[in-house]
Amino acid sequence: MAVHAHPDDESSKGAATSAKYVAEGVSVRVVSCTGGERGDILNERLKGDPHILSDITRVRRDEMARAAQILGVSHTWLGFVDSGLPEGDPLPPLPEGCFALAPLEASTEALVRVIREFRPHVLTTYDENGGYPHPDHIQTHVVTMSAWRAAGDPTAYPHAGEPWQPLKLYYNGWTLERTTALHEAMLAAGLESPWADWLANMRRRPRRVLGTHISAAEHFAQRDQALLAHATQVDPDGHWFAVPLELQQRVWPTEEFELARSIVPATMPEDDLFAGIRELDDPDEVCRRAPARDADGEPVVAYVGEPPLPPDEPGLDARSTAPQDADADERDEMREGEGHTE
Ligand SMILES: [Zn+2]
Repeated sequence: MAVHAHPDDESSKGAATSAKYVAEGVSVRVVSCTGGERGDILNERLKGDPHILSDITRVRRDEMARAAQILGVSHTWLGFVDSGLPEGDPLPPLPEGCFALAPLEASTEALVRVIREFRPHVLTTYDENGGYPHPDHIQTHVVTMSAWRAAGDPTAYPHAGEPWQPLKLYYNGWTLERTTALHEAMLAAGLESPWADWLANMRRRPRRVLGTHISAAEHFAQRDQALLAHATQVDPDGHWFAVPLELQQRVWPTEEFELARSIVPATMPEDDLFAGIRELDDPDEVCRRAPARDADGEPVVAYVGEPPLPPDEPGLDARSTAPQDADADERDEMREGEGHTE
C-alpha cells in the first residue's frame, strides 16, 4: 500500500515499483490523502481551459482513475482537502479545513480503516521532511506513522475494523547518486541535462540512507504514461520527459526506498520490498497478531532505518516549510524538483 499526498504523487514516486509488483501478481493499493484541489495547472496547453477550471476536482479524479488503470493498482481517496503550497514571506496561514490542519485522530482513523480493510504487508510513504516541504507531504508522513502504530492495536479505533499490523514501512527515496549518474550520462550523450540546478541543491540537503533498490526499468514507460495521465499537473515538455527512457534504463534501472521500520528482520542492501516477509510461513497470521510494544507504545521492530547523513554542502533546512533561496535565483531550492512547482 502506497500512501501519497496528492493524485499524481503515486506516478512520480515509486510508480515503476508499483507496476512491477502488480505484474508479479501482488495487489497494490494507492491511497491519496487529498483530492489535489489546490494544485495549479502546470500544463501550458491546458491553462485557461474552461472545462478544467469549472471543475478541477472532477478533472483530477478522472486523471487519477486513468493513472491507476495504467499502473494496475486499486485506489482509495482518504477524503481530505488539499492544503495548497503556501507561498510568500511570511507564509500565509493554511486554509481552514485542509488536510494539514485536520485532527490527527480523524486522519489516522481514516487510514487505519483502509489498512484494516486492504490488509497490506508493506506500507510506503514519505520521510519526516515529506521529501520536499509541502504541508500535505509532511502530514502524509505524520498520519502514516500514526496509523503504523495504531493499525495493529485492538484498543485503537475499535470501530475501524479488525487489527492488522503491516510488517514493513518504507519511505520513497531519491538519491544524489542517481541524479548525478543521469546528469553525467546526459552530458556524455551530448544532451542538455535538466539536473544541473537540482544537483547543486541536493548537495545542500541532508542525505538519506537508502538501502533498498528495486529493479523496475521494464516499467519506466508505464510510469511515464501514468504521470502523463495527470494531464493538468504535468508539463509533457518539462524536465520529467527530457531524459530518454533508454538512457534511464541503462544508467539507473532501479527505484530507491528507505526502510524505516520492519517487524521482520532485514539486511541492507536489499532488492525486494517483501524481503523477510516471503520467508514467513504465514505472514497474515503475524499481521493479525498484536505486536509487542516498547515503552512508548510503538510496535517493537527488528530493524529501524538509519538517520540521515549531513549534506555534502551545508545550506538548506530540510524541516523548514519556509521558502529557502540560498543562491538568490528567486526560486525556492527545497521545492525545486517536485512536479507541483516546476
Ligand atoms: Zn504532492
